[in-house]
Amino acid sequence: MREGVKRIAVLPGDGIGPEITREAVRVLELIAEVRGHRFDLVYGKIGGIAVDEEGTPLPDETVRLCRESDAVLLGAVGGPKWDKGPTHLRPETGLLGIRKAIGLYANLRPITVFPSLIHASTLKPDVLAGVDILILRELTGGLYFGQPRGRRQTADGVEVVDTLQYSEHEIRRILRLGFELARARRKRLVSVDKANVLESSRLWREIAEEVARDYPDVELVHMLVDNAAMQLVRNPRQFDVLVTENMFGDILSDEAAMITGSIGMLPSASLGSEGPGLYEPIHGSAPDIAGQNVANPLATILSVALMLRHSLGMEDEARAVEAAVRAVLDAGHRTRDLAGPGEPALTTAEMGDKVRAAL
Ligand code: ATP
Ligand code: MG
Repeated sequence: MREGVKRIAVLPGDGIGPEITREAVRVLELIAEVRGHRFDLVYGKIGGIAVDEEGTPLPDETVRLCRESDAVLLGAVGGPKWDKGPTHLRPETGLLGIRKAIGLYANLRPITVFPSLIHASTLKPDVLAGVDILILRELTGGLYFGQPRGRRQTADGVEVVDTLQYSEHEIRRILRLGFELARARRKRLVSVDKANVLESSRLWREIAEEVARDYPDVELVHMLVDNAAMQLVRNPRQFDVLVTENMFGDILSDEAAMITGSIGMLPSASLGSEGPGLYEPIHGSAPDIAGQNVANPLATILSVALMLRHSLGMEDEARAVEAAVRAVLDAGHRTRDLAGPGEPALTTAEMGDKVRAAL
């Protein structure tokens, strides 16, 4: 890698992926121009388009490209065209494959309420005002991967087993990241578990207490997962960083995403111990609106902000992108998904232009 040059792998993928990624890339190019950075953007194939053109959802070339990059920007994968294929030819297999290939263990989802979009949520405005949560989900352990697992026939019928498995190492590294992220924010970490029932949660709590000793400036709160699910909709403002294991995180992050009421607005980051982070919108490839230039590019543009913050060490630039998005919304600009009935809507490209103008 050349000195001072940041290499970014861009994987547009399927459906609206190419349209929204294009706008996010233009934001990166503007940042480079204005702030004097050098970004080397290299494009790769993933998902359905890779199946069509290379016969696999994750070509080796794409893995190599990502491994040699400082960060990966991903659009979205999948669509009805590939839904019926065998597992190894499914677009989603490509996505799972790249996450594993670059060793991502933490998924970050910031849940931010934009004041000018509060009316779009199902929650009351006074509950939502000022909500700014970072959900941190462990990605490598838990029920998804524990062994043994399987199904067998017994005399009474079928019996099934899934195993919730965690190593001390996996728990410690995600909690440590949680404390680091909380330290850079409002210094409050809510660790979510089910320690009244689960052995894995009891170890989780022990390790949380142990790691907390290295972060005396961060307040640690333990919360049972059932209570956390309730508190997220009752009083979401109490949360700063929320850290939890794989399955709890899967459920709570979708719940929290919906309190903001806008799937086209939410970015995500996935981080590993070394190697590049991967940045993508939380929404899918939206085949129903693909190719129409109506998709909302803001989740992908906000994913670029996360990339600037977490992989490129450019906090000022990250904040500038977030402020530009906020300004554009405050000025009343809307894509179709955000516009009220009868309200005029911008195209994908026009929304991208507005953000760059604000930047
Ligand atoms: P996946 O399984 O990949 O998550 P999905 O079918 O569950 O995909 P999405 O692809 O996210 O979900 O689409 C859900 C709905 O949200 C669709 O109606 C889609 O048009 C809409 N949608 C998703 N992303 C956007 C966006 N960026 N802008 C506008 N609408 C969107
Ligand atoms: Mg989905």
